[in-house]
Amino acid sequence: MSIKINFLIKAIVVLILTSSPLLQSCSTSSSSEIVEVKYQCPMQCEEDKTYIEEGICPVCKMNLEKL
Ligand SMILES: [Zn+2]
Repeated sequence: MSIKINFLIKAIVVLILTSSPLLQSCSTSSSSEIVEVKYQCPMQCEEDKTYIEEGICPVCKMNLEKL
């Protein structure tokens, strides 16, 4: 009887260890980087020029798009 109980306990421990979300998520670090939003003309009239605020392109007057 005691052998069967030992096997059951081992099986339960293995199940807990392998299914534990804490062990799996320990490698993922939450980065608190500030995402800088930039806007750019969809036609890229000014090539790589970006704007920090929403608005319109001074060249073609189209709405700037989020990058
Ligand atoms: Zn433009």
